[in-house]
Amino acid sequence: MAFEGLADRLQNTIKKITGRGKVSEQDVKEMTREIRLALLEADVNFKVVKELIGRIKERAVGQEVMESLTPGQQVIKVVKEELTELMGGEQSKIAVSDRPPTVIMMVGLQGAGKTTTTGKLANLLRKKHNRSPLLVACDVYRPAAIKQLETLGSQLDMPVFSMGTEANPVDIAKKAMEKAKEDHHDYVLIDTAGRLHIDTDLMEELEQIKATVQPDEIFLVVDAMTGQDAVNVAESFNELLDITGVVLTKLDGDTRGGAALSIKAVTGKSIKFAGMGEKLDQLEPFHPERMASRILG
Ligand code: GDP
Repeated sequence: MAFEGLADRLQNTIKKITGRGKVSEQDVKEMTREIRLALLEADVNFKVVKELIGRIKERAVGQEVMESLTPGQQVIKVVKEELTELMGGEQSKIAVSDRPPTVIMMVGLQGAGKTTTTGKLANLLRKKHNRSPLLVACDVYRPAAIKQLETLGSQLDMPVFSMGTEANPVDIAKKAMEKAKEDHHDYVLIDTAGRLHIDTDLMEELEQIKATVQPDEIFLVVDAMTGQDAVNVAESFNELLDITGVVLTKLDGDTRGGAALSIKAVTGKSIKFAGMGEKLDQLEPFHPERMASRILG
């Protein structure tokens, strides 16, 4: 299960303080030291950890007295609020264009789960929001990618726009927009090409697609299992493309938690969805508060 190690350690740490009727500065110091180690071990970015610990210390020591909670509980409340804030605070919503279709570009490295997530997102938009998305296959470099999206489309009984592997991705995106308007789709989900590493050619192509379709959202799909690499990937994609949100996949695996807890602080962009498995209905809106509760038990 995701965050198991981190959750165990944090829960053990805060257990020591929960019932306390009095929390001394020394207690706070000890607790934050343990939280710091637990977060670093979970592969959370060290700068993020440092700032978080600073805030927890400051708030926990200068706690206002709340009658309903013991001082120990108050300190835990601070930790929970800070973890929630670290992951973006409020749950963020998906954009809706006032001039449909709403266009979402899906970007990310190969293997992160981009194509699968495109299908999952289409499914969620239809199921939960009663929308009718058009899926667009812009990854022309990997023939299997188009096939994969078409297979997902037929499983979902949803149309997939593709022009094979010979066409230029920018042209495909442009034609797809015309098609979506013609057929009255309210969402267009564009599955773009992924590479093993970030490279300039790919980024230029993504920039061109972005300029052509003027997306309402650019979702970067990253694999939670890759920890700080996912954070670095998010930082680079954000610098080059100004992404609007992140989808963190494979949170059903035993990821340590580093990516989930660092991405927002490092990039300023929120995690909007979490992939919880390979199936098409295993995509969930990302709830920072629920996630923090899960970690703290
Ligand atoms: P792409 O190269 O980024 O398009 O990646 P794919 O969509 O082909 O996904 C790569 C692999 O990751 C596939 O085997 C997917 O089934 C798997 N995958 C994607 N999302 C998740 C997830 O949330 N959980 C798990 N366990 N597997 C996932």
